[in-house]
Amino acid sequence: MPARTGQQYINGLKEQDREIWLGGERVRDVTTHKGLSGGVRAVAHLYDMQHDPALRDTMTFPSPSSGAAVGRSFDNPKTRDALETRSKMMLNWARATCGMMGRSPDFMNVTFAAWGAAADFFGEARPEFGDNMRNYVEYIRENDLTLTHSLINLQRSRNLSGMFNLTEGTALEVVRETDAGIVVKGARILATLGPLSDEIAVYSPRLARHSDDHSPFAVNFAIPCGTKGLRFLCRDSFDLGRSHFDHPLGSRFEEMDCVVFFDDVLVPWERVFLLYDVNRLNATPHVTHSTAHSAHQGAAKNLAKCEFVLGLALLMTQTLGTAHLPHTEERIGELMLYTELMRSCMRAAEADAAIDQWGVMCPAILPVESTRNLMMTAYPRMIEILQLLGSSSFLIQPSEADFAGPLAPAIEQYLATDNTAAKDRVRLFRLAWDTAGSAFGSRQVLYERFFASDPLTRARAMAAIYPKDDMTERVREFLGRDDDT
Ligand SMILES: Cc1cc2nc3c(=O)[nH]c(=O)nc-3n(C[C@H](O)[C@H](O)[C@H](O)COP(=O)(O)OP(=O)(O)OC[C@H]3O[C@@H](n4cnc5c(N)ncnc54)[C@H](O)[C@@H]3O)c2cc1C
Repeated sequence: MPARTGQQYINGLKEQDREIWLGGERVRDVTTHKGLSGGVRAVAHLYDMQHDPALRDTMTFPSPSSGAAVGRSFDNPKTRDALETRSKMMLNWARATCGMMGRSPDFMNVTFAAWGAAADFFGEARPEFGDNMRNYVEYIRENDLTLTHSLINLQRSRNLSGMFNLTEGTALEVVRETDAGIVVKGARILATLGPLSDEIAVYSPRLARHSDDHSPFAVNFAIPCGTKGLRFLCRDSFDLGRSHFDHPLGSRFEEMDCVVFFDDVLVPWERVFLLYDVNRLNATPHVTHSTAHSAHQGAAKNLAKCEFVLGLALLMTQTLGTAHLPHTEERIGELMLYTELMRSCMRAAEADAAIDQWGVMCPAILPVESTRNLMMTAYPRMIEILQLLGSSSFLIQPSEADFAGPLAPAIEQYLATDNTAAKDRVRLFRLAWDTAGSAFGSRQVLYERFFASDPLTRARAMAAIYPKDDMTERVREFLGRDDDT
């Protein structure tokens, strides 16, 4: 099947029975559930964009195996032009969701595309794992499947070393092998998009300093979400079942986050890509460059999200008549700075891209890591700026129903501003509230703080790859000068 339509995506979700729990009840059909169906429709729209005649050439590319038009995020670009086209594709998806669905399917697609190109790495010690990876990437690309992933082991306690304690009895581990595959048990977080996905990928970035080179916790596999023994436990839905007027983001872009329980889940051998091999697990993101590709997808999301918040701030201040005030300009200027830094990082990553050892045009790592790390502090600050600009207007929020009720004339009269009718003001500020105040908006802040790991880990990741000698050498050279220059 070439690039799917939205309806084909929805049909796929309906066809696969899976164990999703939300609010104490098992969800029988995520596509019609009131807390999940809005997100399903949003992802379906992304798939429909692949068939929009005006976008098709950007959103898809000819499959290297079948020649059919398949999703562009599965591409392994060979040229800078092809990388930039993939970047446009990701930006199109990110802008369609105002940057509010960080786990749109391209996030995992670019990761697996990179792993497919680097399949020999997975097959170095066990050749069958290389074949498994190649076959799996072809399978998800040709069927345009949607993946969630859960990388993080739950912790009972945070020990002083800062390292995850694998003996606590909560971590996902391989408990035995059978002729059919490996059996895994444990729990993982935080499968965003879990109920809206066809498959779940499980690997781990958190064994980084684990000392053994052979560990039952070191594993990389992917299985259908409907696999026996797999259970998804959802948080509360932030789609409150309200209209798009009342709840413009939550009613559309609820991507859901889940704890995933693995109760003796059988992973067929053909779906195992790495087993027990701690060193290979730790090396995977950097040797395969999947981290650069996923950060590039994140950069597109960051840019779309910054553009959206900036646009919102501009409209808010125009509506309130505060745009000309110096402190407004200062705050808007800060939003512009973040937006342009995100754009610049993305462009720099593309301009400095280079062919890697797998033959893939790989975005430069430092700019994409910079946008990823910057967003962890920039986004909470951007939301703070929205709150400072909006003040009580966030809470002057009659609902859509109020505009049809007995207070409508008063609302129309008193809530208008000098340049904006009451209903347009309220529509705008309900959007602002959903961005900067509601449960949906608060979760977005938490997402940006943590989705790519905790701040300490991210800072260490940057320090590990940064070419520090270049900098110290410059200072040494200055210290060694004995002339007047
Ligand atoms: C909205 C959202 C969506 C997410 N989506 C996904 C997803 O799709 N897939 C996925 O795999 N993961 C996802 N994540 C999970 C994310 O990767 C983790 O939240 C992140 O790695 C942090 O881990 P943690 O939540 O266990 O926090 P913790 O490790 O508990 O960290 C919390 C804070 O405590 C500090 N801390 C922890 N231990 C110590 C210590 N020993 N000493 C000093 N300080 C310490 C940390 O630095 C941090 O500031 C998501 C997270 C969020 C919030």
